Amino acid sequence: MVDKIRTICIVGAGFMGKQIMKRSALHNYVIRVFDINLKVVDEYIKKLTKNLGKDGISAEISLHSKLSEAVQNVDLIIEAVPEKLELKKDIFSRVDKLAPLHAILATNSSSFPVSKIEDVVERKDKIMNIHFYSLSKYPMADLMKGTQTSDETFEKGKKWVESINITPLIVKKESFGFVFNRIWRAIKKECLKIWAGGHADVETIDQSWKIFTGMDIGPFTLMDNIGLEVVYDIEMSYYHESGDINDIPPDLLKEMMDKGFLGRKSGKGFYTY
Ligand code: NAD
Repeated sequence: MVDKIRTICIVGAGFMGKQIMKRSALHNYVIRVFDINLKVVDEYIKKLTKNLGKDGISAEISLHSKLSEAVQNVDLIIEAVPEKLELKKDIFSRVDKLAPLHAILATNSSSFPVSKIEDVVERKDKIMNIHFYSLSKYPMADLMKGTQTSDETFEKGKKWVESINITPLIVKKESFGFVFNRIWRAIKKECLKIWAGGHADVETIDQSWKIFTGMDIGPFTLMDNIGLEVVYDIEMSYYHESGDINDIPPDLLKEMMDKGFLGRKSGKGFYTY
């Protein structure tokens, strides 16, 4: 456990918040949770607590319907509500007024640098991006400062991430897409261009990737797993950031989505399932 970080609060316990909760519980942190969907989150916490109990871990997780109660005596707050800037700003502005002064505020946002959120808080030295990847498969997190985040805050955030057995990826200078998302995005963008340009089919592109990297799946299978509408939205967010028309994903991708081919979950994407 990191010195001085003992109790954490997770605001938004959906797909990502639940994974952060589980990891933190495994590493003996006291966890407070705030979510507007109390029933679903309560069921998850009960199940998680029971399962951890079978392994001899007594998790201390409490669910709160009031933000003021959820942030009491906490040392770190991780926000994982949906990717809407105004919603995140509202949460941070409230949390800043309610949480103990020493507490660090972190956002799990996939796309917003914390510099776009920090203006709503007083404690600009204690706010940062901690962007987790899907933790069961990819145990890593991007760490990035805002314009005034102190070295002390950043170091504490890094130590906490390491303490739950996640590899921190240090972003030295503000970067849209952090570290690995940018790498994955470059691969994805080029693969889509090769396919949409009719230069090679998805099987050939995936095969080349698998042989070269030794991985079990290629970029198109991965995009099918993620969901083509999610891939499309992410590509569009890069386009909105750059304004470069070369960043707009190929029309063919949109045509597939319009036909309802969304990847594995719909039974068809680049491959048929
Ligand atoms: P999600 O929709 O699964 O979960 C969001 C949770 O927030 C839900 O439980 C919802 O009830 C709750 N919520 C909504 N409004 C709230 C409010 N006003 N107050 C408190 N709780 C509220 O979303 P997610 O996929 O877990 O994504 C959350 C964040 O993590 C986003 O910023 C996203 O960009 C980021 N992220 C997502 C992934 C991913 O693979 N899904 C990966 C990395 C980062």
